[in-house]
Amino acid sequence: MSNCGESKGIACSCCGSSKVEVEILNNKSSKLNQLPIAVIGAGPVGLAAAAHLAACGEQFIVFESGSSVGSNILEWGHVRLFSPWQYNIDKVARKLLNSSGWNEPSAEEIPTGKELVELYLEPLSKLPEIQNKLYCNSKVVSISKKGLDKMKNSGREKTSFIIYVEKKGVTERIEAKAIIDATGTWANPNPINADNIWTAEERELNQHIYYGIPDITGSDRERYNDKRVAVVGGGHSAINSILELAQLGDSVEIYWIMRKQNVENAYGGEEKDALEARGILGSRIHQLVDSGQVKVFTPFKIHQLENQNSGIALKGDYQGEAFVLPEIDEIIANTGSRPNFSFLREIRLSVDPATESVEALSPLIDPNLHSCGTVRPHGEAILRQPEKNFYIVGMKSYGRAPTFLMATGYEQIRSIVAYLSGDIEASRIVELELPETGVCSLNLGAENSISCCS
Ligand SMILES: Cc1cc2nc3c(=O)[nH]c(=O)nc-3n(C[C@H](O)[C@H](O)[C@H](O)COP(=O)(O)OP(=O)(O)OC[C@H]3O[C@@H](n4cnc5c(N)ncnc54)[C@H](O)[C@@H]3O)c2cc1C
Repeated sequence: MSNCGESKGIACSCCGSSKVEVEILNNKSSKLNQLPIAVIGAGPVGLAAAAHLAACGEQFIVFESGSSVGSNILEWGHVRLFSPWQYNIDKVARKLLNSSGWNEPSAEEIPTGKELVELYLEPLSKLPEIQNKLYCNSKVVSISKKGLDKMKNSGREKTSFIIYVEKKGVTERIEAKAIIDATGTWANPNPINADNIWTAEERELNQHIYYGIPDITGSDRERYNDKRVAVVGGGHSAINSILELAQLGDSVEIYWIMRKQNVENAYGGEEKDALEARGILGSRIHQLVDSGQVKVFTPFKIHQLENQNSGIALKGDYQGEAFVLPEIDEIIANTGSRPNFSFLREIRLSVDPATESVEALSPLIDPNLHSCGTVRPHGEAILRQPEKNFYIVGMKSYGRAPTFLMATGYEQIRSIVAYLSGDIEASRIVELELPETGVCSLNLGAENSISCCS
């Protein structure tokens, strides 16, 4: 399959930056087709975009809000993934890395988030083809069409994008001919409120609520030792949190709160899961629940939180009746995340009303019908937005659906970069081999769908 040929070798020999890029950063206007393609976010998908763009000899620039690449992943760096290295490395990135003498991790081993960043994303970001085009501590806060109102049609496609980037308190305007938004969803967690509404009480109690997967057996041990802890959510993040809490011993009281009809729906494919590590997680939590070490409340829909003297009371509807779970010290919220569209307010977007995924992608990924392993390969045509040359990719392209796999994102990138580089034929051929999960090939409905990562 085409990867758009060889690099055109545009980097300046003294500093590594291309001339066009330097002009852009100095805010001088340039002709549209000389402008770079901007990638927002340096997670695995954004960096895969950088690798493909470099391999195609395209001008590009990458903005990352964190202080390093893979910033979102480092927040759950202690957690082991469920897919082995063979599914986690983009093919073009591998090629570039191998030509630089990289030590490729063993295909069958399963990395932690930290290892994914240290052994793959960091070396990738340091390649000379990418390093000087990557700007960390650079948060994209707005994108617009240069000087054009959102309602204005005339000349729209020939007008460049303007990106507002905040760097150390200073806002810069950067011009680009195309944009690939790979900003993920991790930084925008859902609340624990069952109606998915952020309430004032929940915000006020946030010193007792951890959104994500704390390092329970490591740096966060003291926070959870000897405590009554409620874990809210029915996906793999919740399972990870509970398995770690259980390692602290019997002094921790663990309450597992879900909206699922019954706890069996959370176990997933277990031994039938083609991703063995994910299947093992399901089996281990199954055993823990059977042993009674974890007290399960499902379906429990939390409507209210109350800070009482003896702890936090969770109020809501448990199995159809009004119910209060009192005396909780700490809450771990593993209720998924949602995309942030606030900085895309001036861009013409097509987003599915239910999943908040890219609209045309929704039927392919709908968690009512699909899990990670049954998503059909898709590329540029499906990901196209009404705003020409603007794409949402990676985790964010799935919106609220928790079924994203990196391998899917890499194929999205291959197709989009081929298209932007003029190789339309290559952009249309989409291929993807994903690991099957034991349950996801069946139509089990949303209640039973596997939550791969939420
Ligand atoms: C616990 C867990 C385990 C997972 N395990 C697997 C697995 O085993 N296999 C698998 O295939 N997938 C797994 N996933 C799912 C998924 O592949 C990862 O979440 C992956 O990190 C998504 O990559 P991404 O590049 O789309 O987004 P992210 O990795 O979230 O990267 C987005 C980047 O954009 C940056 N950013 C955000 N906003 C801005 C902004 N405004 N301006 C500039 N930069 C910005 C962020 O700082 C971040 O670095 C897992 C997810 C989780 C949470």
